Amino acid sequence: MSKNYVIGFPRIGEQRELKKVLEEFWSNKCSFEKVEVVAKELKQRHWSYQQKAGIDFVSSNDFSFYDNVLDTCVLLNAIPKRFKDLENEELYFSMARGNKNSVAMEMTKWFNTNYHYIVPELSLEDEYKLNASKIINEYKEAKEFGLKTKINIIGPLTFLGLSKRVDNGDVYELHSKILPIYKELLEEISKLDESLTVQIDEPILVKDNDVKVLSLIKPTYDLLANVSSNIDIIVTTYFEHSNEASKILVNTPIYALGLDFLYGQKNFEILDEISKSGKKLVAGVVDGRNIWKNNIQNSLELLSKISKHINKEDLIISSSCSLLHTPYTLKYEEKMKSEIKSWLSYACEKLDELNLITKVFFEGVNSLNENEQNAYNDNIESNHNRLNSEIIHDKSVQQRVDNFTKLERDGKYEERIKLQKEILGYEDLATTTIGSFPQTPEVRKSRRYFKKSEISKEQYEKDMKQYIDDCIAFQEECGIEVLVHGEPERNDMVEYFGEQLKGYGFSQNGWVQSYGSRCVKPPFIYGDISRPKAITVDWITYAQSKTDKIMKGMLTGPVTILNWSFVRDDKTRSEVSKQIAVALSDEIEDLQKEGIKIIQVDEAAFKEGYPLRTENIKEYENWATRDFKICVSTAKKQTQIHTHMCYSEFNDIIKTIEDMDADVISIETARSGNELLKIFKEVGYKQEVGPGVYDIHSPRVPSVEELKKQIELLLEVLPKEQLWINPDCGLKTRKWEEVKPSLTNMVEAVKQIRKDY
Ligand code: GLN
Ligand code: ZN
Repeated sequence: MSKNYVIGFPRIGEQRELKKVLEEFWSNKCSFEKVEVVAKELKQRHWSYQQKAGIDFVSSNDFSFYDNVLDTCVLLNAIPKRFKDLENEELYFSMARGNKNSVAMEMTKWFNTNYHYIVPELSLEDEYKLNASKIINEYKEAKEFGLKTKINIIGPLTFLGLSKRVDNGDVYELHSKILPIYKELLEEISKLDESLTVQIDEPILVKDNDVKVLSLIKPTYDLLANVSSNIDIIVTTYFEHSNEASKILVNTPIYALGLDFLYGQKNFEILDEISKSGKKLVAGVVDGRNIWKNNIQNSLELLSKISKHINKEDLIISSSCSLLHTPYTLKYEEKMKSEIKSWLSYACEKLDELNLITKVFFEGVNSLNENEQNAYNDNIESNHNRLNSEIIHDKSVQQRVDNFTKLERDGKYEERIKLQKEILGYEDLATTTIGSFPQTPEVRKSRRYFKKSEISKEQYEKDMKQYIDDCIAFQEECGIEVLVHGEPERNDMVEYFGEQLKGYGFSQNGWVQSYGSRCVKPPFIYGDISRPKAITVDWITYAQSKTDKIMKGMLTGPVTILNWSFVRDDKTRSEVSKQIAVALSDEIEDLQKEGIKIIQVDEAAFKEGYPLRTENIKEYENWATRDFKICVSTAKKQTQIHTHMCYSEFNDIIKTIEDMDADVISIETARSGNELLKIFKEVGYKQEVGPGVYDIHSPRVPSVEELKKQIELLLEVLPKEQLWINPDCGLKTRKWEEVKPSLTNMVEAVKQIRKDY
């Protein structure tokens, strides 16, 4: 009997083989046949890993050349008009990345993960038709390889829910056009074998869906689960509970429900109904979104609670979601402290964990062979060690954080801003930038050589200071009012801080796909966080010493540091975030002592951390705001605190932004004119705002005229006394040839506008 299950496996390759070959292909250095060869090798390797680990349900169609939502567009022939003349890989990659004539499709985050999917563009005019070749071929490929797979597909409700209508209607209006294609797909699939399993991913069902969406569940799955009696349909949700939907799904003829019991503990509430319905339960108990070794005893306890409601024979043990969100294997981690490494588990290790849990749960500890017995003991031991390790638990940090009482800075905004304006003396429509300047090949090289100890500390510091000098010289020449040092010492806004905080770890090969061929290697928080010494103070004070203008200090905020890291699972996110906040409050105090008068605390990923369900939002907002405020609590009234957020939509979080009470916030608005700013006016937002006046994602240099128009639009919404003028975001990915004229034009535009306003 089949007892364990993996929702999906990563596909980029443990040495990022797919990334490398794709990028070779895109730059015309190899043929598409070569990409296909690599893809085939990867699929086979991943199947064999899962097979060897004893996984019963292994997927096909979890592979993708770019993204599986994009694959679903191709499956349904949901191709935007501008690509209609293309075909095959040219069509596929043009949709993903754009081409000479057409812009790429939009990309956005997959739920609350850091994976980005391609947003389908739908319209009433579309003619959907089935193109099942990828799915069929992958199934056959696995079969030839010697594996009977379950077939993964993204469900119709999720596909629609993640799409946008280019003709301004409601996406679910297209349900009746899409559903017949899914039916046809299942008919095709049913011909493949005597018996088949299809996993239909419906993560959209963990959101707060309205009645209209919920009302589509029953007709959809009554139809799909009845297409053919030789297909077992498993509907999976993850990242939260899906109780409203599960209640409906148990009354459809599906074979099983897959639920996440780690991030959706409320799924417990539906167990009795599943049991009554006689359906199987795929129970997600091994964390697919984190890198910690599973605690087998905890998992067994969880399963034993579940089995109080569900018969053991109806239980299948699974990863909580696709393993796409974890790195591959620990075998390339050669530099990590062995103690820390013994606490970790990447995708391959998670397979063994699943197998072990399954054996112990169904057959008892005595059924384990010697190797398995060792693995089991080892698991218990390393979890015990981690719980008690000195490098994790720092009493002094815990005491300080528990007793931290300064939760807010002194003075109300009105009082603070008055003092600040006197001291800082900036004009209305003051100009500044968001922090980073172009990361040149020289800067990157110097940092890399220094890391590898190939150049001395003196040489490295000289290089960085030279860059800072150049940045300052340019900003002074161009006439920007509040300067930045340019961030040459940072390769990444989180990793840089992580490296200097105690309690942070780094991997060599912990790559996770972010989008297409892009991967990120998030640092991880394993222990109590403290700041052994000042982080940015030397760089910022050096920069300030080189200019009479105001130099803005630059930190990454606690919530962003947390949201872009793998976080320890033995403390709540709120506890960890508070530790980071307290550590950073010391940095602010030190900067201030050294005479820095403006400090920006970037919260680029603040919005990303929002929970998927409304019922959990308040709690997140409470601690995230608390920690931003703790972080800046050491700032005197005279010290101006800026923050920066890299997006746009503020409507639902404007009250929280107000509560954060930064003196100035810079945001990304250029692509939407003044639309996004309106909410600030509507709620009577008092603090100052720097709406981005040009898009930094594009190499284009905006003209003075264009920038003036943009500023005028802003002035229609907020008065000049409340506005700062800056680009949308940091400039590190741009080239100096673009940045210099753009900022020069920006300053010129402000000069001209000031005459008229
Ligand atoms: N200060 C950072 C920079 O300018 C902010 C980056 C970000 O918001 N993503 O690069
Ligand atoms: Zn930004």
